Parts: sequence; C-alpha cells; structure tokens
Amino acid sequence: MMQLRIKGISFRYDSIQALEDVTFTAVGGEILGIIGPNGSGKTTLLRCINRTLEPQVGVVLIDDRDVTHLSRREIAQQMGLVPQDAAITFPFTVLEAVLMGRHPYRSILGGETPRDLEIVNEALRLTNTLHLASRPITGLSGGEQQRVIIARALAQEPDVLLLDEPTSHLDINHQLEILELVRRLTKERGLVTLLTSHDLNLAARYCDRLLMLERGRVYALGTPEEVLTPANIRQVYRVEVEVTRHRSTGILQVLPLSSIEGDRV
Ligand code: ADP
Repeated sequence: MMQLRIKGISFRYDSIQALEDVTFTAVGGEILGIIGPNGSGKTTLLRCINRTLEPQVGVVLIDDRDVTHLSRREIAQQMGLVPQDAAITFPFTVLEAVLMGRHPYRSILGGETPRDLEIVNEALRLTNTLHLASRPITGLSGGEQQRVIIARALAQEPDVLLLDEPTSHLDINHQLEILELVRRLTKERGLVTLLTSHDLNLAARYCDRLLMLERGRVYALGTPEEVLTPANIRQVYRVEVEVTRHRSTGILQVLPLSSIEGDRV
C-alpha cells in the first residue's frame, strides 16, 4: 500500500512560524482531514507537501522517495492539487481545462496523444462531467466547476490527492456530492487523500482520520471520534461544543454552543 510520510516539517514565512515539526503518515485508500482554526497552517501544510513552498526543515516521502529529489514535473505526476478558489477567469472548455492535467506528461513539442485523451475521458467520466466537455468552464455552477477541477487533478494520474477546502463554496447538496466522489475515488484508486476543512461535521463524516492543527503544530491525530472531543475543540477553536452521534445513522455531530472569551491556555 502506498504511503505518504511527512517528517518533522517546519515552515516560516518571513516573520511567522506557520508550521512547527509536523509529522504524520497517510496511507493509500485513506482520507486524512486537516482541521484547525483560521491561520493554524492548513494551506501552508498542503503547499509544503506538494513543494509549492519549500519547508526549511523536514521531509516529504512518497513510498520512501524524498520529493525534494523530484522535478516539478515528477511531483505533478505524483500529486494533484485542488486549490482553494481555483479562480477560473478564462473560458476554456471543460475538455481543455482537464487536458491541462496531462501537462506533466507532455513532451516539449508534442500535442496530446490518444492516451492523454483516454485518461482525460476517464477523469471526466469519474467526476460525472463528460456531458459538460464542450462547455466553457466559466459558465458552470460552483459544484460543476469543482468537479472539473477534481477531474483535472485526476488527469495527472496522481497517487496523492490534495484538496484545499473543496466544499467551502458549495451548497449542502453539492458538498455531499463532492465528498462522496472524493471518497469513492480514494477507495477505488487507493489514493492518499488529504483535505482541509472548516466544517467539522463534514470532516467527521467523510474522513477516515483527522489531523488537528493548533498554531502550526499537530494538536491531535486519530479517528474523528478521538480527535473531535469537546476538550480538544475547546482548546483549539475556543468554542464549547456538544459532540453526539446521530441516533439512526451513527454520524458524529458537533454542535457549537458558545464561544469562549480570552486566550488559549
Ligand atoms: P490556514 O490555512 O489554517 O488558515 P495558513 O496556512 O493560510 O492557515 O496560514 C498559517 C499562518 O501563516 C497564518 O498566521 C498566516 O497569517 C500566515 N501566512 C499565510 N500565508 C502567508 C504569506 N504568504 N506570507 C506571510 N504569512 C502568511
């Protein structure tokens, strides 16, 4: 089974220590949710993992291969990123947009090969966007656009899928649709999927495990039940919550009760 191992990553922007000694392992077929309040380092962590940012300390290993030894192109063949607010302003067609995911496999002069088109078609099919292929991406709904961006990431044929707040702009129907899709792809393809979320209820429902960040450090790591305790949430989010299980579905539910004044202990 494939493994993504993050060992002792620290990252500093000029004056801000955004990540401090972050260590964890995620395995193929698993969705690991990264949670934590605003500014706790979630986006920075994803960017360090795919080397958009270079951590000052620590390593990222995919099956024992250190990603620092990989070229940009090789990294893009291993990891697909679905960024937050993937602002699409140019009216590419859906097909063109997803074909861009094949870029890391292209030769300098070559156009797309039949194999590229085959993989793109498969990505469109998996994300239920095949019928949109000739539509300009700018004319799609938020949920449709998000499915197209996921299709583009899949066209990279990644082993690791990184999603930054994949559901933040979607209505509840499309939130479930996207997360069901991500779950199915993760299981079927044995992907390592990391996703960041502000929505503790969705994270609890769809993630196999959760990593809770507090000011750039790992505060808790485990199953949703282990991580989403009132004590952890109180400390990290400064909110009193009640955590229950839904009577018939057993789904974990986090109900915020009140915010806590004052600083963290
Ligand atoms: P999150 O995704 O959890 O909201 P971020 O990773 O965006 O957290 O930010 C972590 C910390 O790094 C915050 O204190 C934030 O202000 C800071 N930060 C993020 N991006 C930059 C940047 N480009 N330059 C300087 N500081 C940044």
